[in-house]
Amino acid sequence: MKKFKRVLVANRGEIAIRIFRACHELGIRTVAIYSHEDRKSLFRTKADESYLIGKNKGPIEAYLDIDEIINLAKNKGVDAIHPGYGFLSENPEFVRKCNEANIEFIGPTEDMMKQVGDKISSKIVAKEVGVPTIPGIEKPINSEKELLKFADHCGYPVMLKAAAGGGGRGMRIVRDEDELISSFQSAKNEAKKAFGIDSIFIEKYLENPKHIEVQILGDKSGNIVHLFERDCSIQRRHQKIIEFTPAFSLSDEKRKAICEDAIKIGKSVNYRNAGTVEFLVDNKGNHYFIEMNPRIQVEHTITEMVTGIDIVQSQILIAEGYSLDSSRINLPNQESVDVRGYSIQCRITTEDPKNNFAPDTGKIDVYRSANGFGIRLDGGNGYTGSVISPYYDSLLVKTISYSRTFEDAARKAVRSIREFAIKGIKTNSAFLINILMHETFLNGECDTNFLDSHPEIFD
Ligand code: ADP
Repeated sequence: MKKFKRVLVANRGEIAIRIFRACHELGIRTVAIYSHEDRKSLFRTKADESYLIGKNKGPIEAYLDIDEIINLAKNKGVDAIHPGYGFLSENPEFVRKCNEANIEFIGPTEDMMKQVGDKISSKIVAKEVGVPTIPGIEKPINSEKELLKFADHCGYPVMLKAAAGGGGRGMRIVRDEDELISSFQSAKNEAKKAFGIDSIFIEKYLENPKHIEVQILGDKSGNIVHLFERDCSIQRRHQKIIEFTPAFSLSDEKRKAICEDAIKIGKSVNYRNAGTVEFLVDNKGNHYFIEMNPRIQVEHTITEMVTGIDIVQSQILIAEGYSLDSSRINLPNQESVDVRGYSIQCRITTEDPKNNFAPDTGKIDVYRSANGFGIRLDGGNGYTGSVISPYYDSLLVKTISYSRTFEDAARKAVRSIREFAIKGIKTNSAFLINILMHETFLNGECDTNFLDSHPEIFD
């Protein structure tokens, strides 16, 4: 068992703060890194120490410089690095270089990341263990002929996907042959530009599915449990906006089948640390694996609320070498995970819904946040006088409500968003409230096309 003394967080904003909190509760000293553009950001003040990186680099590139980050960690006597989400969190080279420097990477191994981190390779893993996947071709497509053959065979619409895609980017819905031919090259070019790899694959496009994902935790001895599911169907442009758990529209049998399939995939790669196995469920109730995220996710919070398990602390303890059945983690078997109540997470962003969600930037003149029974806030840079820069993700604060019924959790979410006073910058608050109060949402019936089919919500 290694006891970490100092953990560096190779990230910024709300997730960096979330990880610092977990470390401090475990008695671990924290080290922040920050770019020049983030020199006034709140997150760096929440760590015990913070260091400027990427002096001559851009605001994003600063957080992507593997060698600089590892050198700094070595110089500061850091024994483990937590990558958060985004940036280097799914980069196998970063894992390898951490290992070479004798620094523990808080996450899966390099090999596991390679096996499940890419959308094509993870689909192959799922198929091998008999987990249903969306019909498609599980290899990079090199010619239009292959695409046309597949689409003729399975019928339109189809979806072109970048193997390395993420964050809802690198996906195109194609409804006919002409569109397929015209989209192929541009999809490849776009993938190359956005992700550095031009590998594209094709699969059937499912109309109106739900997005259901399962949180898993695995230790270094091969034990794995799931922490049940989240419904992340409320999306705009394939990006999640509101997530909740339990996904109460699922029958108990369906929930069990999906969670067991998630475990099957985790076990087949001997997965360790926290991960999420994502599925789409079509309107006939069939579920299909779509991808696996080998890292902490933005919406991990709601699972924590209903299970009482601190996922970030579990990640750290697993990396230290604790097994799931140790008294520190205390998850000796699947039965030791139980779910109580309902939780909903809303992502308050500095975007203007009236202007096609353009990110707003500038100074926050007034910032008063919500509080009270059943509300948890995981925030980044929200405070009076803070300046929101154009360089990063527009997530300002996550409001996470918890209650004994879904309706009550939704009411608390609305109450908390109304309680905020944020002036000087535009937010998506009114838009979130419109969703939370919608009958379809309250009935748990939203699918991934809900927002597209309800334009009135944007007013
Ligand atoms: P990312 O890694 O960018 O988040 P995902 O593979 O998780 O991409 O997919 C994000 C969302 O895109 C899904 O939740 C779903 O709404 C939509 N999507 C992905 N694949 C399909 C598909 N084959 N049919 C219909 N919708 C899809």
